[in-house]
Amino acid sequence: MHVLACVKQTPKSDNVKIDPVTGCLIRSGAESAMNPFDEYALEEAVVLKEQTGGRVSVITMGPPAAENVLRDSIARGADKVYQLGDMAFAGSDTWSTSYALAKGVEKINAEDKIDLIICGKQTNDSDTGHIGPQISAWLNWPNAAFVKKIVSVNEKSITVERLTEAGTDVLELPFPCVISVVKEISNPRVRSVKGRMAAKRAEVTKWTADDIGADKNKLGVKNCPTRVVKSFSPQRCTNAVVVEGANGKEKAAKLVELLKENKYI
Ligand SMILES: Cc1cc2nc3c(=O)[nH]c(=O)nc-3n(C[C@H](O)[C@H](O)[C@H](O)COP(=O)(O)OP(=O)(O)OC[C@H]3O[C@@H](n4cnc5c(N)ncnc54)[C@H](O)[C@@H]3O)c2cc1C
Repeated sequence: MHVLACVKQTPKSDNVKIDPVTGCLIRSGAESAMNPFDEYALEEAVVLKEQTGGRVSVITMGPPAAENVLRDSIARGADKVYQLGDMAFAGSDTWSTSYALAKGVEKINAEDKIDLIICGKQTNDSDTGHIGPQISAWLNWPNAAFVKKIVSVNEKSITVERLTEAGTDVLELPFPCVISVVKEISNPRVRSVKGRMAAKRAEVTKWTADDIGADKNKLGVKNCPTRVVKSFSPQRCTNAVVVEGANGKEKAAKLVELLKENKYI
C-alpha cells in the first residue's frame, strides 16, 4: 500500500501574529515546525505501512525552509519526500494550493501508484480545513474528512469512522481516496535515532510549477479567487478582575455579587 501524507510547515506556536498593515502572517523570527495535525496524519500513514507492508511518501508545498518538515517526516518513518517550491506558488489561497498539491500527486502517482492520501484536519495558521477535500475534488477521488479511526483496510478499499456533529459515520471508500484526520486517529511516536540519522541523509525531491505541469494561471496571489479584504488579531481584553477571598465560598459569593452588579445574572 502506498500512502501519501500531506504536511505543512507552520509557526510552532498558535500565537500567530498578523501584520496590521499588510494583513499577512508575521513569519520572520517565528519558529516553525510540522503542523500539529499533520503529525497525526503522518503517524497513521506509518502505522498503515507497518500493518500492510507498504511505503509512505510525504508532500509539502512551501518555501525552501519547509524542507525541514520533510526531513522530520523521514525521522518519523516516511520513505520518500517531495517539496513543491516555486515563486509561482507564492501567496496562493487554498484553491491554488490544493491545485498545486493535486498536480504533485498526479506526478507521484504516475511514478508509483498512490492508494491513499492522508491530510490533517486543519492547520494552526490559516486553519481552513479546505485542502484535503479540495485535493480530492481536483483529482476526482472520494473523500472523508474528520476521520477519527481506520476500521479496516483491504486491497480495494478502506473503512473509516468519521466524526459528525450528530455522532459517527462509518464509511467505506474505494482506493484511491483522500482522508483528513483528527487527533484521535493516532499517537505520534518519538523520532528514533535511526530515523534522525536517515533524515539527515534523505534526498528531498524538489519540483517547480513546470515540473508538475501546473497551469500558472491557476497559481499565486494574482490568480487566486480569494481576496483577503482585512486580517487582524483580536483585541486582548485587559480589564480582568481577580476575585479575592479567604476561601472558595467567600470568593464564589463575591463573584455572584459582581455578576449581579454587572447584570450578567
Ligand atoms: C489570498 C490569500 C493569500 C495567501 N497568501 C499566503 C502566503 O503568501 N503565504 C502563506 O503561507 N499562506 C498564504 N495564504 C494561506 C494559504 O493559502 C493557506 O495556508 C494554504 O492554502 C493552506 O490552507 P490552510 O493552511 O487553511 O490548510 P488546511 O486546509 O487547514 O489544511 C488541512 C491539511 O491540508 C494539508 N496542507 C495544507 N497546506 C498544505 C501545504 N502547503 N502543503 C502540504 N499539505 C498541506 C495538511 O495535511 C493540513 O493538515 C494565503 C491565503 C489567501 C486566501
